[in-house]
Amino acid sequence: TGTPLADRVAVISGASSGMGAATASRLAELGAKVAVLARRKDKLEALVERIHAAGGTAMAVPVDVTGRDAVHAAAQQIAERFGQADLVFNNAGVQLVSPITDLRQDDWQRQIDLNITGVMNVIGAFVPHLTAAAEAGKSADLITTSSIAATRILEKFSVYSGTKAYISHLTRLLRVELGRKNIRVATIEPGMVDTELPDHVTDPDASKLMADLIDQIDVLQSADVAETVAFMAAVPRHVNLTEITILPTAQA
Ligand code: NDP
Repeated sequence: TGTPLADRVAVISGASSGMGAATASRLAELGAKVAVLARRKDKLEALVERIHAAGGTAMAVPVDVTGRDAVHAAAQQIAERFGQADLVFNNAGVQLVSPITDLRQDDWQRQIDLNITGVMNVIGAFVPHLTAAAEAGKSADLITTSSIAATRILEKFSVYSGTKAYISHLTRLLRVELGRKNIRVATIEPGMVDTELPDHVTDPDASKLMADLIDQIDVLQSADVAETVAFMAAVPRHVNLTEITILPTAQA
């Protein structure tokens, strides 16, 4: 059918731009009700309008996911409006690469706060939702955005890569506990995707590296990631695609 996700309630963090926004649109197109989380309220509201105009159902939940109580409040709001979430795309992240000797400790902290603490806050707020959905016999998905940086040795990426390695290994461990409860746990590990991510990088060499790659090869678009997440969620309930690496064909 055209709406394989018709009975699903999806939560997407980092949904105001990039792969989160594209995934929200795609999941809504496939019939899911989608709750979109990020800090920029205007962007979220514009996205919700686009989804509604296309015939979908969405709600904007402006929230900074680094705040634990705020994420719990968001989960409550979503439950009241849409019911328990059964598809969580835990995707908000920031990449601020720089040489370690520059001691950009504020940048280190921002990456740790969002990519680790923010990811854990979303898990803390929505594992009860996923558990309830699985107990009710529904498919339940916790999909977190890691990166190829989780395993590759990329100079100047140390703190970012460390946060993504945390996510990838965390996911392997969570799967053991939650898989038994019929909750699918997965990471998606993309290579270069054309999003706002490199715009935040302040190290000139590192931003040049990313800009050059975008110029030289046909990199991934957010829609490619969206299609992959939709596929992971739409397979039968007993099938768990656990770690999906998605690379631009021409990226080494
Ligand atoms: P974007 O910068 O376009 O998206 C990041 C999203 O995170 C935005 O919606 C941003 O919205 C949100 N965000 C940032 N800070 C917070 C916060 N404190 N609370 C809530 N939301 C927040 O980049 P991408 O789409 O590329 O990034 C998505 C994920 O993909 C990240 O985890 C990134 O590490 C990962 N990734 C990206 C790759 C790439 O090449 N682009 C490759 C591999 C992985 P707002 O500012 O409104 O809060």
